[in-house]
Amino acid sequence: MTAETVFYIIIAILLLDFIVDQVLDALNAKHFEDKLPAELEDVYEDKEYERSQAYKKTRYKFGILTSSFSLILTLAFFFLGGFAWVDAIAKSITDNLILIALIFFGIIMIGSDILTTPFSYYSTFVIEEKFGFNKTTKKTFFLDKIKGWLMMAVLGGGILALIIWFYQFAGDNFWIYAWALITVFSIVMNMFYSKLIVPLFNKQTPLEEGILRTKIEAYAKTVGFTLDKIFIIDGSKRSTKANAYFSGFGSEKRITLFDTLVNDLEEDEIVAVLAHEVGHYKKKHIIFNLFVGIITTGFTLWLLSLFISSPLLSQALGVEEVSFHIGLIAFGILYSPISEITGLLMNILSRKFEYQADNYAKETFGSAPLISSLKKLSSNSLSNLTPHPAYIFFHYSHPSLLQRIKNLKLK
Ligand SMILES: [Zn+2]
Repeated sequence: MTAETVFYIIIAILLLDFIVDQVLDALNAKHFEDKLPAELEDVYEDKEYERSQAYKKTRYKFGILTSSFSLILTLAFFFLGGFAWVDAIAKSITDNLILIALIFFGIIMIGSDILTTPFSYYSTFVIEEKFGFNKTTKKTFFLDKIKGWLMMAVLGGGILALIIWFYQFAGDNFWIYAWALITVFSIVMNMFYSKLIVPLFNKQTPLEEGILRTKIEAYAKTVGFTLDKIFIIDGSKRSTKANAYFSGFGSEKRITLFDTLVNDLEEDEIVAVLAHEVGHYKKKHIIFNLFVGIITTGFTLWLLSLFISSPLLSQALGVEEVSFHIGLIAFGILYSPISEITGLLMNILSRKFEYQADNYAKETFGSAPLISSLKKLSSNSLSNLTPHPAYIFFHYSHPSLLQRIKNLKLK
């Protein structure tokens, strides 16, 4: 195989990925106007439904624009030898291999972020604004970007530097050390995400004493679950869209509720959402996902170790000598069809887990409050009630609203 062949395989993968996404999006869009199933007729008022139709169409068109732009940008970068050019800049600054890689990825990431910022700006301040979702100020928007960059530099840069250092002393066996590092990192992140990362972006306050807290604690008691760490997060600082999530495990486990969720839902509906989250915990989905994540990371790193020392990867991107960071880019794209497949399998599993968590909520708290909370949450985010089955299969980590309601109504 020649470097040129590898180059064209990479281009083919980029194009194929784009085409598959466009076909799925178009299929999905064809069903935006479908007649609503009887189960979902009361989700929207008529006027709201019209608004949700307009929102879906706007999002769909905007998606075509952004993905075409990023495809053109990526192809141009590949055909014009962009990676070799950035590599040369990094090498003109330092001889240290670790620093070269850090500068290389720094330039690529910040460069692409700056080029795509007008799109995310438009998405937040024009589209989300128009449909009444946006609460972000321009200050928050740009502060978020800067914080995101700093976090990426510290965490991403730190991990990358260590991995290249492992490669320098262990050669192709670097993957074992890298795997250990990433495993420890993801467990620590899972445990302390709410304490370490969230405070950089949001305020979290413990849920005050009151009817809601009493109801939550009463429910937790009936299922034998310690739930003393319940926090409200100021999601309303950025968007009206609502959410709730579980994080950590063992003594660090906590529930985080968006303030928007607390405002939009009745107390019983909030407890039902929590019952669903408790279901994930009780059915060991959180630990399982972490475990599967660790296994796939190991597999990916092992595969990387088989190819990283081959000059073909670097040469495909126009760099003569073998270099870890160039090889990493080429490998990343060559690997993407495999990660599409693992992602697909994870989505299938995730949808199974969602049914299990729904069933847990149904058995321990009844189905009615969960059904009404799901309907309200869908309506408040103007979500699509008639997704195409193929689109669900490829992209949905949760079953569709219709599927979930049908399941919850089963005896
Ligand atoms: Zn869930």
